[in-house]
Amino acid sequence: MMGRTHLLSGAASFVAAIELGKWLLDRQFNPSEILVGTAVCAGAALLPDTDQERSTASLTFSVLSQAVARIIGKISGGHREATHSLLGIGAFTGLAWLLLNLRGNLIGQVLFVHFLSFLLGACMRALHMKAFKRDHLVGLGNYLVSTVIAYGLTRFNVGLSVIPLAVGFGVYIHILWDSCTDSGCPILWPLPIRFHVIPKRLRWSTGAKDGFPVEPILSVVFSAVTIAASVHLVATESLNRPVPAHVARPEPGETRRIDGEVAVVPAR
Ligand SMILES: [Zn+2]
Repeated sequence: MMGRTHLLSGAASFVAAIELGKWLLDRQFNPSEILVGTAVCAGAALLPDTDQERSTASLTFSVLSQAVARIIGKISGGHREATHSLLGIGAFTGLAWLLLNLRGNLIGQVLFVHFLSFLLGACMRALHMKAFKRDHLVGLGNYLVSTVIAYGLTRFNVGLSVIPLAVGFGVYIHILWDSCTDSGCPILWPLPIRFHVIPKRLRWSTGAKDGFPVEPILSVVFSAVTIAASVHLVATESLNRPVPAHVARPEPGETRRIDGEVAVVPAR
């Protein structure tokens, strides 16, 4: 699928999974985890395509990220090979977990900030409507902006604990959707078997032309799911929030400050 469709599938799946997770896992996510997790999952839903130089993710920071993509492509055996398998999910998730836990020293922190910066930058890249003429400058600008944001999130520890989960889930969602297309995915790589999750007549080809009209329809559906689930999360979050003590109705015997004087609330 195309970069933007993958990005939207990652964002939609993460917010929808949080909604489900509340019921299935009994795990609550705080607002910063939801925000960071959604962005990271959307960026991670582009990661498997770093196995080719011309993908949306590989163009994130222009020649800088393309150089890394060239190495990933060589190691993984080419496009839609190791990065589109269970091994790929494990490798990307393990890398996220390792970098998160190595950020105690300077080198570890630099590596983690750049990893997070790449995921955020990939989101911005995928949201570009078309390629720019001065792509090197756009890549450099994206690098600077994404790295400053990633540094801020790391420095103030904003929602970081959710990152390995969001990365693993994003990569998984990418592989799931690629498995709906003609080429399928080698889930059990290095075994050379291509897996598909839907019958042959329902599969589609990737690309702007070949993927029409499936990809635009999916993009609209993913956007609608992301917006609806986000609005619901924000609404329920504000409804569930405990009433601040100074607003809550006082109980008899409590002390309250009234006109600067501390007074005991009388019995009703
Ligand atoms: Zn792919």
